[in-house]
Order: sequence, then C-alpha cells, then structure tokens
Amino acid sequence: MSVTVVVGAGILGTSVAHHLLERGAGQVIVVDSGTPGSATSGAGAGFVGLWAAGYANFFTAGDLELEKYGVAYYRHLSADIDYRANGNLYAATTGDGLRSWVEPVLDHPLAPDGTRALSAGEVAELTGGVLAAESVVGGALHPGGIQISAGRATRALAARLPDVRPFTRVTGLLTSDGAVVGVRTSAGDLAADRVVLACGAWTNELLAEVGYRVPLLRMVATRVLSPASGVSSSMPTVMVPDLFGLWLREHRGGLTYGNGDGYAPLFELNASAGDGGQPHREELVDRLAASLAPKLRKLVPEHDTSVSWWLQGLPCMTPDRRFLAGPVPGVDGLHVLGGDNEAGVTHGPGLGRMLADVVLDGSSSWVDPSPYRLDRFDPDGYPTEQSVLAAMPARR
Ligand SMILES: Cc1cc2nc3c(=O)[nH]c(=O)nc-3n(C[C@H](O)[C@H](O)[C@H](O)COP(=O)(O)OP(=O)(O)OC[C@H]3O[C@@H](n4cnc5c(N)ncnc54)[C@H](O)[C@@H]3O)c2cc1C
Repeated sequence: MSVTVVVGAGILGTSVAHHLLERGAGQVIVVDSGTPGSATSGAGAGFVGLWAAGYANFFTAGDLELEKYGVAYYRHLSADIDYRANGNLYAATTGDGLRSWVEPVLDHPLAPDGTRALSAGEVAELTGGVLAAESVVGGALHPGGIQISAGRATRALAARLPDVRPFTRVTGLLTSDGAVVGVRTSAGDLAADRVVLACGAWTNELLAEVGYRVPLLRMVATRVLSPASGVSSSMPTVMVPDLFGLWLREHRGGLTYGNGDGYAPLFELNASAGDGGQPHREELVDRLAASLAPKLRKLVPEHDTSVSWWLQGLPCMTPDRRFLAGPVPGVDGLHVLGGDNEAGVTHGPGLGRMLADVVLDGSSSWVDPSPYRLDRFDPDGYPTEQSVLAAMPARR
C-alpha cells in the first residue's frame, strides 16, 4: 500500500488528508509538531463566504468554486463546529466605502442568488442592533454565507483521520534520485511514497532542505474577543472594509473582531515563527485597541467591545494573493499546500479536494489547478518577505 505523509494538521493538512483517503490513496499519515489546530487554524475567525464575488477582486471564478465547495463541505460535516448559516454582511460607514466596497458586491457578475442591498436601518436590524443605524450608510448581504469555529472544524477533521501523530516534528526530508522517499521526524524516520507540506508559516524551513523556496509573507494577525453582552447568535458575519478592513461576528454572546491595526508582517516585528503554534505579540493588541476603540464605540454603541482575550496566527500571503497547491519542481512526490492568504478556512476543503486530485492524477478535472502551481513564480524572484509585500495587490 502506498504511503502519503502530510506535514501539518491545520485546516489545509486535515482537508487534503481527508480527500486523499476518500480517493483511496492508501495509507495517509498526518504529523504535526503540536496538536491539530494549534497554530494558525486555531486562531481563524471562521468566516466562510463567497469572497470572490465582489469582496476580494484578486480571487477568481476558480476560487469561487473552492469557496462554494467549502460552504457545502462544512454544512455537511456532522460535527459540533459552531456552524451557523446567518449570511455574510458587508457594511459601509461612508459614501466612499459604499461605492468602493459594497456596490462591487451588489453588482458582481458572480453574485450569488439572493444578494441584496441593505439600508442603514436594515443593517442595524439584521445585526440585532449591534451596528448602529446612525453609524453606517448601507450594506450588502450574501445570504448563503456561513460561520464556523475554525479550530473545532480542524480538530473534528483530525479526529476522523485514522493516523494523526501529534507532537511529531518533521526535521527534514528524505530524498533519493530526485524523489522524496520520506521524512525525518522527532520520533524517527517515516518512509513515504509522497509527502504533502501543509505546514503553513513553516513551509520554507522544510523546502530549504531541497533547495526550493516559495514566496510567502508571514503576517501576524490578531483576533480579539470581548465579554458576553447579549449579542444574538443569529447575527451574520460582518465586514466593514472602510474601517481598515474591520471584521466582526458573535462569539459566545460577545463579539470577536479584528482589523489591520492588529496585523503586522513578521519581519517588521523582528520575530521568528518559532517552532510552531501561535505568536503572542501584545503590542499589536495594544495598537488595535488604541486605534480602533473610538471607531468601534461609535459603530457598536450598545455592546461591550473591550478586550477580554485575544489570540494570533500567522497567515501567509503570496505576491499574487493566490494559493499554492501543487508539485515542488525537481522533487518527485513532494507537494505543497499553502499560501493561505488569510482565507484557508474558507478555501481549505476545496484546495484539499483539488490537491488530492493533483497528487494522485497529476491534475484535476474539477477545478483547473494551474493557477495554483508553485512554478508560476521564479524561485529567485522574491528573495525577501519585503519583496512579496511590495508585489501584493491591494484588496481591490
Ligand atoms: C486572526 C485570524 C483570522 C482569520 N480569519 C479567517 C476567516 O475568517 N476565514 C478564513 O477563511 N480564514 C481566516 N484566517 C486564515 C486561516 O486561519 C488560515 O488560512 C488557515 O488556518 C491556514 O491553515 P494552515 O493549515 O495552512 O496553517 P496552520 O493552521 O498553521 O497549520 C500548519 C500546521 O503545521 C504544523 N507544523 C509546522 N511545522 C511543522 C513541522 N516541521 N513538522 C510538523 N508539523 C509542523 C503546525 O504545528 C501547524 O499545526 C484567519 C487567520 C487569523 C490568524
């Protein structure tokens, strides 16, 4: 029986492992230096939506297929993942915000059925009064959008896999005659016919072993949680892009939220990604609280938005904001699934399905895998994370 080792039990690693097993790939072993969901996936805010339909214009019709698949996949995952189909709401606080962010969602040629414009009053009503009508000028609703707990979903997927090995750090790749033949781990060597690197912010550490590098910008991203204050669990996820990319949703009767004030490239913090897990950069929480608090008080006047807890992860951005899913040039049997662009919870199931096809068949008849290939980038083209940042398109 052939053996595939998946390195990383985040949402991407567990998703591809499931799809490989469904496709009859033989033995699939998932190893993680921590526990499933203990790194970036455990910090994810769990918004799952059709971002390619007007919100993020670097996503394409192919990405939209992955998104639709993600929505359906979580809907049918019978596990306690805090699944809620409350829709995704996009709101604006200014006329400019309405024109730049909300109208493209309403006018997008791929807008899902039921997409509708909302008045300021309707935004307030749909959020159960969380967003004050006086502070917004309107919005748009994708009624089919969902929200989940990203950590729970990752752990639920991992729990259904037959062979997950936590606290097993991969320290090297074993190769022979231009092909990968296994991995070196903290618990001994593992022979494999194929290896998938789904180890997020740590991908380049292992690729360095085979002299390859993918262009990734590792970003520290913060999610804040506020105390319970009677927020309704029927509230949609909310994006307020004109407040520096603010996103917020209900969490255990309170709110969880974040925006650009709580984000910084890892290189700006002079920090390393460490050995796995989540970063803890309190200065970003302080910056977020100081900068966003006055705007949030105006937008959400009736609820407690203070910081009672926070967590961070390391999403990885690519120069073109497209994912990385495909073979590593020059090393047979070695694949990468990464470059999540802070949208891995949404796209993870679809990327896992597509990459399983690529691993087993060399391609996919479902979604064209070529836009996600690693060799679309010159391996020497982005020598630093700063150069990736400089190349990244703005969200619109
Ligand atoms: C604050 C925040 C909010 C977000 N909100 C959303 C959202 O609303 N919607 C959305 O779609 N996405 C969101 N994201 C993005 C999403 O969380 C990521 O895209 C996704 O979790 C990335 O998954 P991953 O599997 O690539 O990485 P990870 O979850 O980091 O998984 C990689 C795994 O590899 C393991 N590993 C690393 N090195 C090794 C090694 N050498 N050996 C063995 N194991 C190793 C790590 O321990 C880790 O478990 C958010 C992220 C953050 C931080």
